[in-house]
Amino acid sequence: MDGCIFCKMVEGEIPTTKVYEDEAVLAFLDIGPLSDGHTLVVPKRHCTTVHECDPEVLAELAARLGRIAEAVVTAMEADGYNVLSNNGAAAGQVVDHLHFHVIPRKVGDRVFTQWPAYKYRQQQAQDIAARIRSRLT
Ligand code: 5GP
Ligand code: ZN
Repeated sequence: MDGCIFCKMVEGEIPTTKVYEDEAVLAFLDIGPLSDGHTLVVPKRHCTTVHECDPEVLAELAARLGRIAEAVVTAMEADGYNVLSNNGAAAGQVVDHLHFHVIPRKVGDRVFTQWPAYKYRQQQAQDIAARIRSRLT
């Protein structure tokens, strides 16, 4: 897609610190890492968000994610990792080409210090679940 920096990386027009490439995906180090080895995994075919992406493209990406994550976490001798995808500006998506972050974690690293969990009010969970289910039928 015109003007998309990740498409330009896929095309080789912008250099990347590549860690993996095949016909369907490219994985490279994030230029602004949250931890050493923070890797971005992107489909070669441009799409913006998980829900707009062709399921086949998603499946190809998912099929490679575990192997790439294992390489990242073992190479970094990490204790664990986060896999996350920001979808939409409200969720923190800055680059509008679908990507999954693989973020190596060490015990006690405090990379994410906030996880603002709360509890549903009575009946609220059932109502919300019903609203979501109605869009999946
Ligand atoms: P988002 O906020 O969209 O989920 O994440 C975009 C990520 O892309 C950020 O973590 C940012 O550091 C990374 N990024 C943006 N521009 C470049 C670039 O030119 N090269 C690399 N390697 N990463 C980039
Ligand atoms: Zn793109």
